Amino acid sequence: MKMEYTAAGASMCNTDMEFDRNVPRICGVCGDKATGFHFNAMTCEGCKGFFRRSMKRKAVFSCPFNGDCRITKDNRRHCQSCRLKQCVDIGMMKEFILTDEEVQRKREMIMKRKEEEAVKESQRPKISEEQQKVIDILLEAHRKTFDDTYSDFNQFRPPVRVNENENVYRRFTRSSSVHTQSCSSEESDAFNSSPEPSEFTLAGSLFGDFRSQSSPSENGSTDLTMLPHLADLVSYSIQKVIGFAKMIPGFRDLTAEDQIALLKSSVIEVIMLRSNQSFNLEDMSWTCGSDDYKYKVDDVTQAGHNMELLEPLVKFQVGMKKLCLHEEEHVLLMAICILSPDRPGVQDKPLVEAIQDRLSVVLQTYIMCKHPPPGNRLLYAKMIQKLADLRSLNEEHSKQYRSLSFLPEHSMKLTPLVLEIFGNEIS
Ligand SMILES: [Zn+2]
Ligand SMILES: [Zn+2]
Repeated sequence: MKMEYTAAGASMCNTDMEFDRNVPRICGVCGDKATGFHFNAMTCEGCKGFFRRSMKRKAVFSCPFNGDCRITKDNRRHCQSCRLKQCVDIGMMKEFILTDEEVQRKREMIMKRKEEEAVKESQRPKISEEQQKVIDILLEAHRKTFDDTYSDFNQFRPPVRVNENENVYRRFTRSSSVHTQSCSSEESDAFNSSPEPSEFTLAGSLFGDFRSQSSPSENGSTDLTMLPHLADLVSYSIQKVIGFAKMIPGFRDLTAEDQIALLKSSVIEVIMLRSNQSFNLEDMSWTCGSDDYKYKVDDVTQAGHNMELLEPLVKFQVGMKKLCLHEEEHVLLMAICILSPDRPGVQDKPLVEAIQDRLSVVLQTYIMCKHPPPGNRLLYAKMIQKLADLRSLNEEHSKQYRSLSFLPEHSMKLTPLVLEIFGNEIS
């Protein structure tokens, strides 16, 4: 009896035990299987009922034996007096017994809470079957058009990387000899090893206006050693983005002219967005498989772009990574980016807007239902902000592209698709 009392007493103090399925739950009165805390002590259903009935009747029992019967599951009916004494000993209190009125009130409370929960549940946003279908289609479209083995990259004209110091020297001395070598990672970490402001200025002054710095007569076209490879990469990516766009539900309902207008103005933004998948925060590079296809800021400057684009672009990539988007959110954002009604040349703005609105609702619903806190906090707003960032990146890219394609020896390194999409200054 003593041991049972202690066991029940201990479990009473530790309410967590009530939820711990590994701890045996034993009635502190009779040793039978307990069902939980009743009137302040761990007991079985039988002893719970016995205590309530006794208290309600204000019953007075007397022990037919010596007043110290050992209560067990089997003999608990034999001596009510000792059973009740045991109940009080393990801490059962009549104050815990509810009056009939209280029982009724409690029942009503439980009913009310259940109803409230049901209402809440019915009001909670749910991803409809149709919305889920949109998500599934976009996921499939993306997986079909984004090869994360990057195995096609070896079909591009190969990357040619020039040692940065050598490059600077060559540019300053206007030497016509070009030394090329394949890249090893230490050559091109000018950006990630906390660059000094002066380096930005240097890069800016070096590459900011290459039209005046690399005249055709001095072997200018070979300056941009990464241009052929990256032009092929961009051209390839354009094709993949077109393939993705065509699978966006609703996109094919647009006129051919509107499809082209949307793609022409958004494709560079989508390329920047999708490239986030290969962006690596550890070394601030786009890592597409082997070291040959690991692109750092310096590689892109060797394709004719400068820090005015690359600094905000890397910032954008870092910001995107930190959002930790689900793939569902990533593909929806790309689709929303493409279906922007305010792009130049779009005729049927209401239809584009309707398609974009539907995608935005899917994205918001998805975030509410599937993105757990704290990552979901303001996530939709942050994603829309990223679209605004992309607009200025797009603008800066166009500016730099115009300078780049101005020179025939540069534009001849591009591909017909790139020239068609981004424009050809010569023609
Ligand atoms: Zn019992
Ligand atoms: Zn007794």
